[in-house]
Amino acid sequence: MRISYDQPFYLFLLNLRTEVNIMIEEYLKIIPKPVNISSKEGVFTLNEQTIILTDLNLKETAEQLKDILLSTFGLNIVIKEDLQTKENNNVIILKLINNEKQLNQEGYDLIVSQDHIKIMASTPNGVYYGIQTMRQLIPLELNGKKNLNLEFSIPCVVIEDYPRFQWRGFMLDESRHFFGKKVIKYILDLMAFLKLNKFHWHLTDDQGWRFEVKKYPLLTEIGSKREGTITARQKALLCSEKQKIPIDGIPVMGYYTQKELKEIICYATERHISIIPEIDIPGHTTAILASYPHLSCTGGPFEVSTRFRVHRDVLCVGNSEIFEFLENVLDEIVNIFPSKIIHVGGDEVPTMRWKECPKCQALIQTEGLNTVANLQSYFTNRIARYLASKGRRIIVWNDILNDDLISSALCQYWINNFNEVLDHVRRGREVVMSEMKTLYFDYPYKLIPLHQTYNYDPIPSNLEEKFHKNILGLEACLWTEFVPTKEILDWETFPRLIAVAETGWSLKNKKNFESFQKRLTSFVPWLDLFKVNYAKKEEY
Ligand SMILES: [Zn+2]
Repeated sequence: MRISYDQPFYLFLLNLRTEVNIMIEEYLKIIPKPVNISSKEGVFTLNEQTIILTDLNLKETAEQLKDILLSTFGLNIVIKEDLQTKENNNVIILKLINNEKQLNQEGYDLIVSQDHIKIMASTPNGVYYGIQTMRQLIPLELNGKKNLNLEFSIPCVVIEDYPRFQWRGFMLDESRHFFGKKVIKYILDLMAFLKLNKFHWHLTDDQGWRFEVKKYPLLTEIGSKREGTITARQKALLCSEKQKIPIDGIPVMGYYTQKELKEIICYATERHISIIPEIDIPGHTTAILASYPHLSCTGGPFEVSTRFRVHRDVLCVGNSEIFEFLENVLDEIVNIFPSKIIHVGGDEVPTMRWKECPKCQALIQTEGLNTVANLQSYFTNRIARYLASKGRRIIVWNDILNDDLISSALCQYWINNFNEVLDHVRRGREVVMSEMKTLYFDYPYKLIPLHQTYNYDPIPSNLEEKFHKNILGLEACLWTEFVPTKEILDWETFPRLIAVAETGWSLKNKKNFESFQKRLTSFVPWLDLFKVNYAKKEEY
């Protein structure tokens, strides 16, 4: 007899299956939540006799898996580069396959059976993400008992997984405070574990220039050091430039040599993370002006700033030397950073100096720009065209969206002018969402609690479906004016970045804050293992 789909018994079974699957997902506690999980009978036993069998093209990925199993679980296991072998018992198989359905080549299939684990994807990136998921299936509790005959039971499952968005990012401001190489690598490790793939590195601002430029050594000799930092947040928000405000007297300094930048980029690339450097121009440039005051409208002098908010002194766009300077700096950036996208800031640029500057006024006349406001589009388009000649594309903060902005510019939305952002998208252009109200981690949990970050959806509810693909994804930002230490950095960032990772990766209909909270509780031992000083439940 055929069972009709609307018969009560069938519906009962279907409901039961859904319930069971929800329980499976809670039990497997994976973050970000995969697209599909189905549970099977039994467990795979991972031990020192387990062998990794790998495609030749996945040798480095296999080495990464080996390193994880050794460093986290104390298991020293062997890699064999041979998929032809008949060996099918107690093996982890890493395999490249053709699979076009997987978005952006980052998806993977993970099958855990009693005999073997199989991770298949169309790219090493996909296999790497499959490994990150498998890692979460291994119970952490036994960790540390290295003298025992170690065995880990991994539940049998079939997981199909791929990301919702291609841009899943985190921005760190190292101008306001400098954290250094060790902290950056630690962040990259956590990002990779959460399947985040864009690290936006805010390396320059009024309060410090943070990387070596061989042609302009004063950028680091002078621009990377400041005397201290304003103390009270409130004062910082209210103070005018003319007021003399007390500072804490604790010097802030530091920068990356080009050798260190290359080392960090290499570290990120191994983890399938693209680093997007930001050089914020033509505003937020006091550290440049302190080093090379002739690039300003007034001639200075300037000091690397100890206070925050918008600074009225910006690059003198009317001075042709600034283009020579910036092109030389960008040449060095392009030589170091492989990213096809370079962030050139563009936020919070006051025009008062340009109004009074003969050079800027002359440029407005000769270029027929009409108003001082058009100087910034002129400037940004000129920089964009230069970078385009090097095969790179700019991303800018949404402050400078207007009709004149070069059409290839990618926009990063943070605040205001949301209709302009929607217009930009409806003209077929692209946006990354960093909405301040939900994704700015420098705001305390009292203002942006975890659920607010988690429930943010990057696709605006009033955006027509045909433009959804133009929203590339989302990026959380940590501005560090009042983040002097790794401990505070950790506290502001975690667990909110975990929520962002789930929004960036998991399908919208798979997301649920209650489920996330339960899985987060199970995820905490991982944060402990990474030594993250995360915010506790009563704090977020
Ligand atoms: Zn000027």
